[in-house]
Amino acid sequence: MSTSLRLYDNYTRSLRAFEPLQPGAVDLYACGPTVYDYQHIGNFRTFLFEDILKRVLEWNGYRVRHVMNITDVGHLTSDADTGEDKMEKGARRTGRTAWEIAELYTTAFIDDMQRLNIEPPTVLCRATDHIAEQIEFIADIEKNGYTYRTSDGIYFDTSKQPDYGYLARLDKAGLDAGRRVDLGEKRSATDFALWKFSPPGEKRQMEWPSPWGVGFPGWHIECSAMAQKYLGDYFDIHCGGEDHIPVHHTNEIAQTEARVGTRLANFWMHGYFLLANDAKMAKSAGEFLRIQALIDRGYDPLAYRYLCLTAHYRSQLNFTWEALDAAAIGLDRMRRAVHALPAGGEPDRLYVERFTGVVNDDLNVPKALAIAWEVLRGDLSDRADTRATLLAFDRIFGLGLEAWRPPVETVPEAVNALAAARAAARVAKQWAEADRLRAELHAAGWEMEDRGDGYLLRRR
Ligand code: AMP
Ligand code: ZN
Repeated sequence: MSTSLRLYDNYTRSLRAFEPLQPGAVDLYACGPTVYDYQHIGNFRTFLFEDILKRVLEWNGYRVRHVMNITDVGHLTSDADTGEDKMEKGARRTGRTAWEIAELYTTAFIDDMQRLNIEPPTVLCRATDHIAEQIEFIADIEKNGYTYRTSDGIYFDTSKQPDYGYLARLDKAGLDAGRRVDLGEKRSATDFALWKFSPPGEKRQMEWPSPWGVGFPGWHIECSAMAQKYLGDYFDIHCGGEDHIPVHHTNEIAQTEARVGTRLANFWMHGYFLLANDAKMAKSAGEFLRIQALIDRGYDPLAYRYLCLTAHYRSQLNFTWEALDAAAIGLDRMRRAVHALPAGGEPDRLYVERFTGVVNDDLNVPKALAIAWEVLRGDLSDRADTRATLLAFDRIFGLGLEAWRPPVETVPEAVNALAAARAAARVAKQWAEADRLRAELHAAGWEMEDRGDGYLLRRR
């Protein structure tokens, strides 16, 4: 069985052998959160997929430079470049400024990433800190002849690119024909804003001067500009959620092709949606679940991480509380099983090889989990090796198996007294009395394990 890494690339629509552009290191760009509200557990499914991807790359010995943006301006409520800026709308909803909510939701996002054990990106960059780079990018595209001006902004002219929309296999002519009526001043349905002017007579909370007039950048240009700044004109992997294929990533590619002639990234990878009641979980739909909502219901956030490990990133996953319950049980069993094993072993070579084979097969983590269970139930003669093998796997699972400790129980006074009496009876070799006290403990729902000169109490 081959264990070399293969990943599914949406640009070529194929599984391809992964080779980094520069030996030993992988450059990875992931589209980050739009911080006008909390991120929901669906968003985190995509960030978890990216975390697993990064860990698998590291497992293969690569150093990963992981760049993620914070969209804190320019993401409009409609993908057709109409509607309000989500940030300004969020500010109105909460009665705070756009800058304040950006700060608030960015901090909440970072906290939730930690709760899910997602490794922090190497670079986390805000769109509003990179306005100059975006203006420069647009100026270059303009120089190369890909833009036009309307009364509300500078637009990208997609008719200038014969292969526009290749990533999404877009039927451009069909789209144009279907939407001719509501084009406004746009020449084509697929054209998109690079720079939007502040509405006349109105002062936006977030606006900047530019060669074209006061306004703000479009959403797509921020990613092209920041990816270019930190990772260059052509890097290894670009990822995001599946919704980014037809618009956001398509337009990022168009911009970079117009500026420097590359398609930005060698691999384009997408995490598929988390559904709720078989429909996309979306912030704009109003009802969505945050990580905090899971905690409020008594779940460990890592149970959600475990749930995401049970589905392949290229298939949609329908969220139900029953599925989360099953994941929480699985996680608890795995933690307890690993905790009960002695330290000091070595990972088993054959199991590690099988595991590598499946994670390198386009991140088949559900199968990797099945292998972990096989090891736990399994046939390794050395229990310390079983533990070491699981801890090695956990470098990818990220379930914090090594650090986990059973929750400390508060033992009721009466139970403590029974246990102490039984221990004393044992020392005095009053076996019948000791057995009677143990039965009483059992009846109270507790179990006592004798350990050397002491004992351990736990619930039955
Ligand atoms: P946003 O904050 O809307 O910019 O989205 C942040 C990330 O979450 C993007 O990569 C989206 O593609 C992704 N995303 C949005 N909704 C979902 C969902 N229901 N399931 C999985 N990923 C999602
Ligand atoms: Zn992006």
